[in-house]
Amino acid sequence: MTSPETGQARDVIDECVHISRRLGSDPSLVLHGGGNTSIKAPWVDITGTVVDALYVKGSGWDLADIEPAGFAPLPLARMLALLDLEQLSDTEMMRELAAARLDPAAPQPSVEALLHAFIPYASVLHSHADTILALTNLADGEQRVREVFGDRVVCVPYVMPGFELAREVKVCWPQPMHDDVIGMVLMNHGLFTFGDTADEAYERHVTLISAVERYLDDLPGAGHNALITANTDSTTVSQGCALRLAKLRKLVSDAAGTPLIVTRDHTPATMSFVSRPDLADIANRGPITPDHVIRTKRVPLVGTDVAEYVASYIGYFDEHSPQARTPVKMLDPAPRVVLAPHLGMLTAGQRVKDADIAADIYRHTMAVIAISQDRLGGWEPLAAKHLFDMEYWELEQAKLRLAGPPAELAGRVGFITGSASGIGRACAQALLERGAAVIGADLDQSVETSFDSAAWCGIEADLTDPAAISRALDAGVDRFGGVDIAVISAGIFGASTPIAELGSSQWRDVMAVNVDSVAETFRQLHPLLAASPTDASVVVIGSKNVAAPGIGAAAYSASKAAVTQLARVAALEWAADGIRVNVVHPDAVFDTGLWTTDLLGERAAKYDMTVEQYKRRNLLGIEVSSSTVAELVADMCGPSFAATTGAQIPIDGGNDRTV
Ligand code: ZN
Repeated sequence: MTSPETGQARDVIDECVHISRRLGSDPSLVLHGGGNTSIKAPWVDITGTVVDALYVKGSGWDLADIEPAGFAPLPLARMLALLDLEQLSDTEMMRELAAARLDPAAPQPSVEALLHAFIPYASVLHSHADTILALTNLADGEQRVREVFGDRVVCVPYVMPGFELAREVKVCWPQPMHDDVIGMVLMNHGLFTFGDTADEAYERHVTLISAVERYLDDLPGAGHNALITANTDSTTVSQGCALRLAKLRKLVSDAAGTPLIVTRDHTPATMSFVSRPDLADIANRGPITPDHVIRTKRVPLVGTDVAEYVASYIGYFDEHSPQARTPVKMLDPAPRVVLAPHLGMLTAGQRVKDADIAADIYRHTMAVIAISQDRLGGWEPLAAKHLFDMEYWELEQAKLRLAGPPAELAGRVGFITGSASGIGRACAQALLERGAAVIGADLDQSVETSFDSAAWCGIEADLTDPAAISRALDAGVDRFGGVDIAVISAGIFGASTPIAELGSSQWRDVMAVNVDSVAETFRQLHPLLAASPTDASVVVIGSKNVAAPGIGAAAYSASKAAVTQLARVAALEWAADGIRVNVVHPDAVFDTGLWTTDLLGERAAKYDMTVEQYKRRNLLGIEVSSSTVAELVADMCGPSFAATTGAQIPIDGGNDRTV
């Protein structure tokens, strides 16, 4: 933070950062950008004037990794003056908060800034603790809160966050305050604690949550702690449901009007929840806190009837939009969470991150619902009207927009063979950079960690084994929901050998990798590509050798010619399914596994050239790298090639034998 705070202010802000991270890194308290914190401390302006300030979490920051710069400093007196107003619209409030920032470079303050300002304690912490949500989403929630906490908390009935909630808290606040009050429970929403220091506020958070845990432990039944721990250990992949998943993803994407990533969770905890006989009843009541609605929608799709879900969503919109706080336009009616008894939980989003966030949130949702329903006498979340207001609240939708516009290939899933190195790896990188999720298959186990990204799923696979291809596709579709793009890049060159000396096993080895495995991959990919919700595209990495074969490269040249014919036939056969199939013919791409430094030196010497000259031995005199090829491949999967199939495009700097 660039502000000239006093040394004392810097210390308390650092302590607030530390405690905020502790709160934010506990998923049973806060998930993905939820919750907020603040500290009241002096601000010394450039003239040396000291201002009593509120440092409140800024929008777009996650508590788990917040820094001092993530807190927006606001003049406390101005915040309290705003709270004296009878009315303040959302637009006016956000404008006033933005204008009041003592540092114009600070982020937009949290929508709860006025509430934090009002609470007359230096440190204020707010979470959506699972246990509090289990306790407050009940018909007798307020009574339960009193039973557990006695007079230690202020209990506030549900009010929409923002100015109205801050006003409501002002009304509910005890005057004078009892000494034993250490927190505030917002029904159906979450928990606030406060104290003279961030440490004290945090200790009070722990104290209150432990009290609920003890209360739950004393109820009939056991093991709530096991339930509340989200189980993310999804190691087993069930066979054979890839096509069902891909078809369901198409329906969900069609309803959304854009391709979505769909990820699957079929861990034991999830399977047991989705197998409940009362699933449709309890899952259709609502979320555990309104904050989650923009990520999960109000309710999941139970089963697989997407059309019915869409009709029901339109009904919900038609029912509530006439009473909306401001005029609203319907968001896409596609589900973001699907609970299907035989598949588990599927979550959807335009980016892998969105689908993963929805999955994390819903894992906690299932645990909380189970506790409220089974142990506390009946799950009863907020009425649909309030959830509609939250889903369509401009300030909530603005949170989603912080992610920026979708990338060119957002929502698409690529499958790339030979993606641990060379052209295959470069293609994976190009697709990832354009926003696609990528399943990478390679014989080399290092493929599993080729990219440190949630959008990457690397799978070790011997592509000459049909069962290995099938396992790789199953695992990839489990992770991302389908396949829209395939890049066939795995290939071997084989030792340079004249035909007269070519052994049959040498010939067969090259054919097995370069042709047979591709035919098998095509066979297995076709139904998945046909179920793609978008322009499906296959690009085969061919070779200049198809048009201009080389001495000693009989097996390689013949294999690339064969695979080119395979691709051309696929272009003919699959056009009716909306699948494009094209071939690129690279030449002299030297940053691949086929070329060693020795081989390069040997070839250059043969032509009496330096290695540099040899690398640019083409009409344009340019070097063609793996990434040059990858950018063309990525373009061919995008809209500029939407009308191109069955094409063969050289990428070789121009070759006088093939022009
Ligand atoms: Zn909240």
